[in-house]
Amino acid sequence: MAFALEKQAVAAGLSDSMVPSPFRVQRVRKETYDTFTLELEPANGADGFPFAAGQFNMLYAFGVGEAPISISGDPTKPQTLVHTVRAVGAVTQAICKLKRGDVLGVRGPLGNHWPVEEAVGSDVVIVAGGIGLAPLRPALYHLLSNREEYGRIALVYGARTLQDMLYKPELERWRSLFDLEVKVTVDTAPASYRGNVGVVTTLIPRVQFDPSQTVALVCGPEVMMRFAVRELESQGVEPENIFISMERNMKCAIGLCGHCQFGSAFICKDGPVFCYAEIEPFFAKREI
Ligand SMILES: Cc1cc2nc3c(=O)[nH]c(=O)nc-3n(C[C@H](O)[C@H](O)[C@H](O)COP(=O)(O)OP(=O)(O)OC[C@H]3O[C@@H](n4cnc5c(N)ncnc54)[C@H](O)[C@@H]3O)c2cc1C
Repeated sequence: MAFALEKQAVAAGLSDSMVPSPFRVQRVRKETYDTFTLELEPANGADGFPFAAGQFNMLYAFGVGEAPISISGDPTKPQTLVHTVRAVGAVTQAICKLKRGDVLGVRGPLGNHWPVEEAVGSDVVIVAGGIGLAPLRPALYHLLSNREEYGRIALVYGARTLQDMLYKPELERWRSLFDLEVKVTVDTAPASYRGNVGVVTTLIPRVQFDPSQTVALVCGPEVMMRFAVRELESQGVEPENIFISMERNMKCAIGLCGHCQFGSAFICKDGPVFCYAEIEPFFAKREI
C-alpha cells in the first residue's frame, strides 16, 4: 500500500518532501503506560538517512494521518530510525499500536538541530521535561561520543511521576558515568520515595557549570521551558546561549502551509530549535 501511495503522489506532481517513505517497525519498547519507542528500518531495503540531533520526521499512520515526531536515536547509527511517541490523540495512538513488522510512512529528516558543534569547548546543560527528553537524547549521544570536546555536561530531567519517566535503564547508565552529571526529579511521588520531588527547574542550581561559558539545551512543556529559561538566566547564562525546541501543530512541515507559524518564523523550517535571544520578544505570549 505504501508503495502505491508513493507512486500516486509522484504522479500527482507532489515534491519528494511531501511523499512518505515506507519504514517497517523492527522493535517496539514500552517506556511508560502511554509512551513507546519504535525502531524503524526502510521497508524497501533502502539505506536509512543521516540526521542531526534535534531534527524530526513526519510519521504517517496509514489511513489516520501524520504527526511530527522527533528523532530520539543515535545520530551515529542512522540505519535504524528511533522515535519515542506519547499517545495523546488519533495519530499518536495509531502509531503506538503498531507492532513488529507493521509499516508506516516517514517524511524527513525535517527542521534544524541543536547547536552541538557551536557548543564545542563549552559546558553544556540539558534541561528536559517529560517527553522533551526524546528530542534531547540524540544531542546527549553526540556529546558523549565526542566527550573530550566539551567541558562539564549536566542533564536535569523532570517527569510527572516515576511511572512517567522515560529511558530508565539508560538514565541509570548515564548516572554511572563519572564525567556526566545527571539529576532527576518527579512532580509527585509516594511519601516513601527518597529521591528528588519538585519541578525540574529546582535542579538547575544544583548541577555544576560555569554560566559564562555554558550552552543550555531545553525541551519540555512550554511553561516548564519559560521557568527553565528564567532560572538559567538567573544563574548567569546568556540568552544567546540558551536553545529551546518548540512544538506547534503542523501539516506540511516544509514551510508552505503556515500551520506552525510562530511570530515571523515557521517552527517546521526555521525551528524546531530556536535561540532564546531571538524569540524572547514573543516567547512569553501564549497566543503566538
Ligand atoms: C517538532 C515536533 C516534535 C515533536 N516530537 C514529539 C515526540 O518526539 N514524541 C511525541 O510523542 N510527540 C512529539 N510531538 C508532539 C506530537 O506531534 C503531537 O502529540 C501529535 O501531533 C498529536 O497528534 P494526534 O493526532 O495524536 O493528536 P491530536 O488529536 O492532534 O491532539 C490530541 C491532543 O494533543 C494536543 N496536541 C496536538 N498536537 C500538539 C503539539 N504539536 N503540541 C502540543 N499539543 C499538541 C491537542 O491540542 C490535543 O489536546 C512533536 C511535535 C513537534 C511540533
